[in-house]
Amino acid sequence: MIQISALPAFTDNYIWLLQDPSTQRCAVVDPGDAGPVLAWLQANPGWQLSDILITHHHHDHVGGVEPLKSATDAKVYGPASEKIPARDIALQDNDRVTVLGWDFDVYTVPGHTLGHIAYYHQGVLFCGDTLFAAGCGRLFEGTPEQMHASLQRLAALPADTLVYCTHEYTQSNLKFAQAVEPDNADIAERVADVNQLRARGEMTLPSNLALEKRTNPFLRTAETSVKQKADERNGRDNRSGAEVFASLRAWKDKF
Ligand SMILES: [Zn+2]
Repeated sequence: MIQISALPAFTDNYIWLLQDPSTQRCAVVDPGDAGPVLAWLQANPGWQLSDILITHHHHDHVGGVEPLKSATDAKVYGPASEKIPARDIALQDNDRVTVLGWDFDVYTVPGHTLGHIAYYHQGVLFCGDTLFAAGCGRLFEGTPEQMHASLQRLAALPADTLVYCTHEYTQSNLKFAQAVEPDNADIAERVADVNQLRARGEMTLPSNLALEKRTNPFLRTAETSVKQKADERNGRDNRSGAEVFASLRAWKDKF
């Protein structure tokens, strides 16, 4: 059984650590900084880093790849269409990779970056900076249409899927979610839960898709009240989910 835990990095990143106790091999997702991973390996002798999964090319996701690669024998997986340092395996949409005995499906989810990929294995999703808890990544390279479609694709995975995104942004994302849906009781409840966790210094991840569908405005573009808010913001009749998404994303950029 693979165990998943978080190695905090920078101010609000998590490097996800996957451990297979039966082989003492481990893998990391998006090591923006080698330091926390090397420190963990040093503190846990006998464990071997065998795989590094990368979702996209931003420095806070790939900055640790080269130092980790030279310190270990790890194999580096990353999106084929982005420049990923020391990449061994270039991944395309619908590829499948086996890491620590787990088969991961690879989905391209453009929007935050154009080549961004996500990794999915039976109820476990590593989605980088695409879907966040109660939010989504900024559109640095892609269009609102692309990001909306990417989020819809992830939202179609089983409802109990655990969402392992890269950043601890949940608390501030929920402030925006409440501005979009002030009367949503699930959001109010989640705000209380998240505030408690953060007050104790605990992380708010992983999330799960069922909770995201109830509380994440970017997955709720089909809700009448969300569309109305989006229409108010950009002063037009947003007819498609992608248009509602675009209005929300533009609002959130300045929120
Ligand atoms: Zn990013």
